Amino acid sequence: MSTNSSSELEMADLPETPDTTGAYPRLNDEQILLLSQHGERKVLAEGTTLFCAGDRDCGVFVVLDGKVRVVQEEGPGGEARVIAVHGRGRFVGDLSMLTGQAVYVTAVAQTDVEVLEVLYDGIKEAVTQDQALGDLILRAFLLRRNLHAGLGAGLRIIGSRYSADTRRLRDFASRNRIPYRWEDLEDDLDAEATLRALDIPPDQTPVVIWKARTVLRNPSNTELAELLGLRAAPSRSAYDLVVVGAGPGGLAAAVYAASEGLSTVVLDALATGGQAATSSQIENYLGFPAGISGAELADRAVVQARKFGAAFSIPGEATSLTHADGYHVVGLAEGRIWSRTPSSSRRVCATGVSTSPGWIDSSAAASTTPLRSSRPGCANRTLSPSSGVATRRARRPASWPAVHRWSTWLSGTTTWEGTCPATWPTASSSHHASRSGAAAR
Ligand SMILES: Cc1cc2nc3c(=O)[nH]c(=O)nc-3n(C[C@H](O)[C@H](O)[C@H](O)COP(=O)(O)OP(=O)(O)OC[C@H]3O[C@@H](n4cnc5c(N)ncnc54)[C@H](O)[C@@H]3O)c2cc1C
Repeated sequence: MSTNSSSELEMADLPETPDTTGAYPRLNDEQILLLSQHGERKVLAEGTTLFCAGDRDCGVFVVLDGKVRVVQEEGPGGEARVIAVHGRGRFVGDLSMLTGQAVYVTAVAQTDVEVLEVLYDGIKEAVTQDQALGDLILRAFLLRRNLHAGLGAGLRIIGSRYSADTRRLRDFASRNRIPYRWEDLEDDLDAEATLRALDIPPDQTPVVIWKARTVLRNPSNTELAELLGLRAAPSRSAYDLVVVGAGPGGLAAAVYAASEGLSTVVLDALATGGQAATSSQIENYLGFPAGISGAELADRAVVQARKFGAAFSIPGEATSLTHADGYHVVGLAEGRIWSRTPSSSRRVCATGVSTSPGWIDSSAAASTTPLRSSRPGCANRTLSPSSGVATRRARRPASWPAVHRWSTWLSGTTTWEGTCPATWPTASSSHHASRSGAAAR
């Protein structure tokens, strides 16, 4: 934490933001008492920065006295924009604190304050003692993320609507649920003025502006992810399980594997949630009778997998899977070896409809676990294990052997092995799968 006397962050004594959506609930005394057993009280002077956009692994702050304001630092020439002001009993934080990503906003003490800082492990401990508190915090953070997206807090993307790279960057931000504001060069005079002030010619657009200071010219998705702190550095070189694909299938596998104590890493070329994350409402997901948006489903699954210790590397496109020294080696698009698992272990390939693992060599594929079910009546379609989201089956990869051993986590703690059917569905059974899938919606 640092004292920030920048004129950008000096603002009038603003009133507390009303809680009209449930995003800013007030904790009761019992909840504060419980959290105080897992956190640290701090007295901070007016103007102190509690956390700053781009910070990782920061704690949630409960306001015990005074006021804290949450701001977005704008681009060159812009002023910090106030997102919300929180008073006594409110907590300041963001979903990123639970998913392990960097935060997108900055929090500053608006007055002299007394706060309770609770780090991730403390939150985890507290919510195991009070499940309602866990639900309250998670729900508030999910709602805040939606509010921030609506406000365009977070990134600024300046680019033309006709540019493929502008679309790519917007898609990457949206799929990763990163709040951003798009300024279309075709009709936004302010955007043009910003580029002129930065001396950036049109052929170097789209441009990403982050935290008022950092400007990237037409960055790749990986560069953007690194800037935002989406990609965590690998904490180890070998994992028990590597899950390729973070759609519902991969996320379910990660939750089960990590909860069984396997060290687990999840890779996805684009974002968590897969296809499901683009759905505004999923009605047929087990356990959500009122329906749930795909984005919320994905965020909840990431929080759950991380709770059990699963690590995520996104974007992380698997480009090869080979054997070396008795280990499986997963290569990433950037050419780096990510991790090694003993060849007796399993990898889960959960790449959904985009399954085209030409990157898997046939010997390594022999023990790769495609997320398919051989239960009677289900052999003709892929299943996201335990997710209940039935998918149309992907094309059979040519490089896979006709019969290969596999294991999966279809029933919680039960790990079982079987043999994939040597024959794949006929046209008529595929038709049945399609109909089942359609009927399930
Ligand atoms: C708009 C929409 C609405 C839907 N609504 C419903 C619904 O209401 N109910 C329902 O049952 N189903 C619905 N579906 C279908 C459902 O979303 C899918 O069946 C489900 O997402 C499949 O999950 P999956 O994990 O198997 O694969 P996917 O969701 O396809 O995920 C695969 C992931 O693997 C990643 N990947 C691929 N190759 C690589 C690689 N080489 N390296 C790293 N990562 C890789 C991809 O980026 C992707 O994120 C909907 C789909 C869409 C698009």
